[in-house]
Amino acid sequence: MAKILPIAKIGEPVLRQTAEDVRDILSPEIQELIDDMILTMKKARGVGLAAPQVFRSLRIILKCSNFFDGFHALINPVIISFSKMTGIGTEGCLSVPGPEAKVKRYRSVTVRFQDREGNFREEKFIGFSARIIQHEMDHLVGRLISDF
Ligand code: ZN
Repeated sequence: MAKILPIAKIGEPVLRQTAEDVRDILSPEIQELIDDMILTMKKARGVGLAAPQVFRSLRIILKCSNFFDGFHALINPVIISFSKMTGIGTEGCLSVPGPEAKVKRYRSVTVRFQDREGNFREEKFIGFSARIIQHEMDHLVGRLISDF
């Protein structure tokens, strides 16, 4: 049974650490963490979540699907290319209470990652999806929207 995890708020050291690659994606611990993160994000009505936000310094991020009916888990994600074009938009963060921040992001990013079965994949994200991916990947290097 998945459980709701506590969400780290700004000031917690884990939010400033550089997250580590996940080696054993198929392990019960990691699979359970992903399930717990999905439930935690749904309950918090977030559109994305990164493992450091639930006190685990690991390179796992979630993004809601385009139709908000499900979630993608991206493990060990790396941006391999991005658009020249950028856009400024407002972003909130479950770890940063208070007003939303205006943040400049690439309009599209192509990401190489592993899915929760451990398969290597490449996917291009555009617009709002690209914004979520960049926001969540910032969490993996200890960067928060309040830094912009
Ligand atoms: Zn965030």
